[in-house]
Amino acid sequence: MRMFDVTAPIFEGMTVYKNKPEKQPKIQTVTNGYVTESRIDMDVHSGTHVDAPLHMVNDGETFESISLEKLVGNCRVLDLTHVEDQIGRAELEKFDIAPGEFLLFQTKNSQDDAFSFEFVYLAHDGAAYLAEKGVRGIGTDALGIERSQEGHPTHKTLFAAGIVVIEGLRLRDVPPGLYFMVAAPLKLVGTDAAPARVLLFEGWQEG
Ligand SMILES: [Zn+2]
Repeated sequence: MRMFDVTAPIFEGMTVYKNKPEKQPKIQTVTNGYVTESRIDMDVHSGTHVDAPLHMVNDGETFESISLEKLVGNCRVLDLTHVEDQIGRAELEKFDIAPGEFLLFQTKNSQDDAFSFEFVYLAHDGAAYLAEKGVRGIGTDALGIERSQEGHPTHKTLFAAGIVVIEGLRLRDVPPGLYFMVAAPLKLVGTDAAPARVLLFEGWQEG
């Protein structure tokens, strides 16, 4: 069985949203005698992470409301590498999407290690289509599922439909197709997101 680790590494100097310096993690390593301990100060949206409704909805649900059942299970990597700007309904209609699917969008973002201000994102009508289809979740290889759209309609449509959102995946080396996914976020309480380790297993699907 082949395993793909589709997680972005976390370190000072990593790629962060819009290259904002305040979003860089600060890692402090202190050695006292032979004991070394590191402290980390980071945005919960660093690298690969799962968003909670609170991120875009005041009084929205916090991270612990997202059940692990949604994050562990079958998923499908969609080849969207031809898309230049936004993923809309027309692109998604080609894939015969079934209710309960978890979809990972492989776009040209995966080719870029640096932050691109022109990253491919999910358009509002694409999000509305996925809500109609009743998918379980979606993952993107951009650090944001939308690109500062006025009023954040994509995030809000997805959250209103209970669709889980993973951002910051690294999918460059993953052939499109079916996988078993283990997306294991830190078990944070009260936050609007959590960093996650995400693994895809090839040749293994739940029945
Ligand atoms: Zn986020």
